[in-house]
Amino acid sequence: MKIKFFILFVAIVFPIVIQAQKTERFIAVTIDDLPVVSTRKDLKTRQEITRKLLAHITKAKVPAIGFVNEGKLYNGEKRDEAQIGLLRSWLDADLELGNHTFSHKNLSAVSLKDYEDEILRGEIITKELLAEKGKKIRYFRHPYLHTGLSLEIKDELNQFLKQHDYTIAPVTMDNADYIFSSAYDRAFDKNDKKLMKQIGAAYIAYFEKCFDYWERQSVNLFGREIKFILLLHANFINSDYFDDIAKTLTKRKYQFVTLENALTDEAYKLPDTFVKRNGISWLHRWAIAKGKGNILPDEPQVPEFVVNASEFKSQ
Ligand SMILES: [Zn+2]
Repeated sequence: MKIKFFILFVAIVFPIVIQAQKTERFIAVTIDDLPVVSTRKDLKTRQEITRKLLAHITKAKVPAIGFVNEGKLYNGEKRDEAQIGLLRSWLDADLELGNHTFSHKNLSAVSLKDYEDEILRGEIITKELLAEKGKKIRYFRHPYLHTGLSLEIKDELNQFLKQHDYTIAPVTMDNADYIFSSAYDRAFDKNDKKLMKQIGAAYIAYFEKCFDYWERQSVNLFGREIKFILLLHANFINSDYFDDIAKTLTKRKYQFVTLENALTDEAYKLPDTFVKRNGISWLHRWAIAKGKGNILPDEPQVPEFVVNASEFKSQ
């Protein structure tokens, strides 16, 4: 009898276990525009957004990294200790911090020299805070995902980043959370709780579609799902809905990994040769480099009612 059970296990249960492992997925969560990006600028709100977002991240055990705009840490010329305190709470939650330039400069709109100055000016306080924890700054994220309008600029910037011990943080799960966030902020300002709920529900439905889209696009390009890097922002809507996004990912069998772990995927060794004025996913950059026909046509769109409720409504 025992042997029969053993054979049964090997023949049926074991392949199922292997199959289940095969469907495991990996994702690194990166959060931009720290300490907070919202039209709601008072300190109390910023503290509340940070507290709620970090509570969700900690509860879901997500080893996230936050990308900082240090320009938000000053009051005129003076350091703003309250804003700096918001960053400290990221480090106290055992999360990593990276550089996102001092004042969110667009590489397509400034000289390379100015951009490099922005990177150096944008690392001072973050480096000090990381040093208190015995850590070093390691990653850089381009604002707007604009990475340069020529290969020469890209190469020069890449060299500069290397000299300063930075690794570029690409994005492979791109989305428009900032449009939802803008609509959500505005609905809050109008005290329209019903609209806030509708935006929140549409937000989660949109992310389900986004995850499905990028998973298919990865298989379309590589014949497999790579370790993804998700871009989100430190905004109001994520402070209310990050736990739902995390649950959606867990339901899809994702394991949360660090950016360092995600970057071990071979896909990220491919060069980024994209030189247009667009901030697009690295999956699209690689598809374009491979020739036409690799980009799936059905990239999810933000619902019209959300766009109309946001600052991105067309005039
Ligand atoms: Zn940004």
